[in-house]
Amino acid sequence: MNEVKIKRQKTRVIRLGNVLIGGDNPVSIQSMTNTHTSDVAATVAQCNKLAEAGCEIIRLAVPDQDAAAAITKIKKQVKLPLIADIHFDYKLALAAIAAGVDGLRLNPGNIGSQQNVIKVVDAVRERKIPIRIGVNSGSLSKEILRKYGVSAQGIVESALEHVAILEKAGYEEMKISVKTSSVPLTIESYRLISSKVDYPLHLGVTEAGTDFTGTIKSAIGIGTLLAEGIGDTIRVSLTSDPVNEIAVATGILQTLHQRQGLEIISCPTCGRTEIDLISLAGEAEQRLQPFSRYNLKVAVMGCVVNGPGEAREADYGIAGGKKEGLLFKKGEILKKVPENRLIDELIGLISADLASKES
Ligand code: SF4
Repeated sequence: MNEVKIKRQKTRVIRLGNVLIGGDNPVSIQSMTNTHTSDVAATVAQCNKLAEAGCEIIRLAVPDQDAAAAITKIKKQVKLPLIADIHFDYKLALAAIAAGVDGLRLNPGNIGSQQNVIKVVDAVRERKIPIRIGVNSGSLSKEILRKYGVSAQGIVESALEHVAILEKAGYEEMKISVKTSSVPLTIESYRLISSKVDYPLHLGVTEAGTDFTGTIKSAIGIGTLLAEGIGDTIRVSLTSDPVNEIAVATGILQTLHQRQGLEIISCPTCGRTEIDLISLAGEAEQRLQPFSRYNLKVAVMGCVVNGPGEAREADYGIAGGKKEGLLFKKGEILKKVPENRLIDELIGLISADLASKES
């Protein structure tokens, strides 16, 4: 099967700590802690769980001076770049910068006078700290709402107003997000802003919902845009443990071949299935977790009639028969195995092959 390459939109490159965003750099995964940032121990523990799950950038809410001051201690115990999420108060931005934060999420039009903007820009310029301008449908000004209503034009116009404030202050280290809770509106807004600016774009569907709903909304919203080459960094928003956001984000990127990793394909079962494939597929998914960072495609198919053929491009696979199944590798059948040994044999084969490659 020929690899279909997504052609990414050209964007500038910004640096966030040790992560490069934009240009040809891999689309990065971010999340946001839901601890009180001033609770250093809880925040560090959550940051480290996120890092372990594969998160690459972490945002922290900074609602007060205690939260800003905590960043110094958190930074010492967390390797990932940290972004301070600031609303309205430029002094909190200055405090977070002084505490060593790597990036800001702040809308410059919401922090008061041009003097305040200049104070923040002077501080970020010194350390080349990027700023994310994050507009969403709920934060549009009365003026914009009167002119455009809640629409892609309005959202993009609002983002461009913030962009113009930073550009006027001579600062261009920025990325932009135009999230909404409506997937079609989010897609339209990102398409529009992407046609107008070459700053890197941070993608997300906001208030996407709980694990199930939020996963579907994010996969469609973020996935559609990424498939069109739009987007440089992503955050999946779930009403859930933030660690769950990382699995969804990674899944979206892997599905679009923007990330290497384990891919399991399994058939939907049908009248030809003579084996408990649903249990086998679940067990395979669980027991293959230790191989999740390898670039492998594993097929779990219900029958030998279509199984090995339909999964020809898989590296390894099993195909069910009657109380037994076939173990195959790159479309070639290796042997017949009893049903209760199928997953053991599959895991054994993959482990042996990986071990021989690594030795
Ligand atoms: Fe049915 Fe076989 Fe196709 Fe699975 S692989 S859906 S069992 S025909």
